[in-house]
Amino acid sequence: MRSDLAALFIIFGGSGDLAQRKLYPALFNLYRKGYLKESFAVIGTARRPWTDEHYHEIVMASLEGFEEDDETKQTFTSHFYYQSHDVTDAEHYETLKALAAKLDDKYQLNQNRIYYMAMSPRYFGTIASHLGSEALLTADGFNRLIIEKPFGRDYESAKALNQELTQTFDENQIYRIDHYLGKEMIQNIVALRFGNGLLSGVWNNQFIDNVQITLAESVGVEERAGYYETSGALRDMFQNHIMQVIGMLAMEVPVNFSAEDVQREKTRLFRSIQPYSPAEIKQNFVRAQYAETTVDGENKPGYRQETNVAPDSQTETFVAGKVMIDNERWCGVPFYVRTGKRLARKETQINIVFKKTGVNIFADDKSDRSAMAPDVLTIYVEPEQGFSLTINGKEVGQGFSLKPDQLNYQYDKQMLADSPEAYERLILEALNGDGTNFTHWHELAASWQFVDAIRQVWDADQTPLPTYAIGSMGPKEATDLLASTDAKWIFDPTQTKNKNCREVCV
Ligand code: NAD
Repeated sequence: MRSDLAALFIIFGGSGDLAQRKLYPALFNLYRKGYLKESFAVIGTARRPWTDEHYHEIVMASLEGFEEDDETKQTFTSHFYYQSHDVTDAEHYETLKALAAKLDDKYQLNQNRIYYMAMSPRYFGTIASHLGSEALLTADGFNRLIIEKPFGRDYESAKALNQELTQTFDENQIYRIDHYLGKEMIQNIVALRFGNGLLSGVWNNQFIDNVQITLAESVGVEERAGYYETSGALRDMFQNHIMQVIGMLAMEVPVNFSAEDVQREKTRLFRSIQPYSPAEIKQNFVRAQYAETTVDGENKPGYRQETNVAPDSQTETFVAGKVMIDNERWCGVPFYVRTGKRLARKETQINIVFKKTGVNIFADDKSDRSAMAPDVLTIYVEPEQGFSLTINGKEVGQGFSLKPDQLNYQYDKQMLADSPEAYERLILEALNGDGTNFTHWHELAASWQFVDAIRQVWDADQTPLPTYAIGSMGPKEATDLLASTDAKWIFDPTQTKNKNCREVCV
């Protein structure tokens, strides 16, 4: 990563939650680590009539968690400028253009610009077209657009948005952010897959029985109910984060680890996902809502009792599904996925469950010589980060029976201390012009088409939504998804732990 880059960041939505909680701390991290030096400036725009001084106070407050002294923080903050701006008002872009040109000279920014859309998606198209029509894009430097999720709410709206953006920006100037791709352990998937002969040789349907992806949240919708009611777990988590994790796990080997090659392989993979008929969707995808539950004697509200949620809401807070990939590598291997709110624990975990091969020659019951736990490779994404391999060993003592043992490698706090936060990593990559960990339009189009088919079946379905208890791992229907095979969900924090394994209980 180059550390001598100069750029002006124009943040649309500079007074918002994302900017304050994620973007300013991420930029400060890049500054204190030396990736941003003197040649950078930030223009925060939003509707509120703030002064630069007030904006500096806001940015300073967002840096509270850092140990650096106030002088360092103030020097960093002095690069920030605020412009009160209504994104629908063409005149405001004239003012923005003049300020951008002034800062370009002052900080020697080489006309490099990063436009960051940190506001409601309904304005993304408007902003992009004004940036074009009011000629904010520079002729000599780079012009890159970072765009937040959600990118549309179905294929048609995503396509329309993309058409609006591409009137001003080329595909290779658009950085569609999915912060999951900035996580250390998600990036580690490709290192594990393509950096180990031991694994790359068995990464296929000959050796892998099934793949399980769990993105579990323990919180409810909190104050985001207004947004969540229009989205639900399928759009909020499955269409982007889960699909991207599937892409990293299942794509073919890219020629190089470059944006062009990785995005091409993920696109090919998404296009290979088996489309389901409406009947197959009902069979292979499950949705549910968390219900009012008594936990430790305390009554916890269900989703429909939450503020700003309709009492008859049909919005799903849980999704589980079976995704099949129709290609030579994965044919016949189910990818089981699930995500939900108010589950037993906040954890993201991936389990690669290998096929049981051979016979168990140690079995007491000679009529069932297949009884043997599968080997499992687990990738711990968060909160813990690391991986483990669960394999069978001999039970210590007299006799001879098998028991699962876990080879466990967890990154400790010290190792992770320097690990960049997802936004920090992705902003630096965008600054360097590296789109490898961003999403191409073709990937999005394919994932929306898959999701739209599910949504249409669910929207037409009049049967009451299944519910699940707060603190569980979802409804019974999610367990039943696996019932037709020999598999079961490997990650189950509601079960008593096997004393020999940390979390993976086979
Ligand atoms: P927010 O509501 O906190 O902030 C919105 C910002 O837009 C504010 O600065 C507001 O002043 C500004 N704004 C609204 N209307 C405007 C107008 N007409 N002209 C100019 N400015 C206007 O929203 P947020 O939570 O920061 O989210 C921003 C985007 O990031 C959304 O697309 C959201 O889905 C996405 N996102 C947010 C988070 C998060 O953690 N907050 C995480 C992932 C994605």
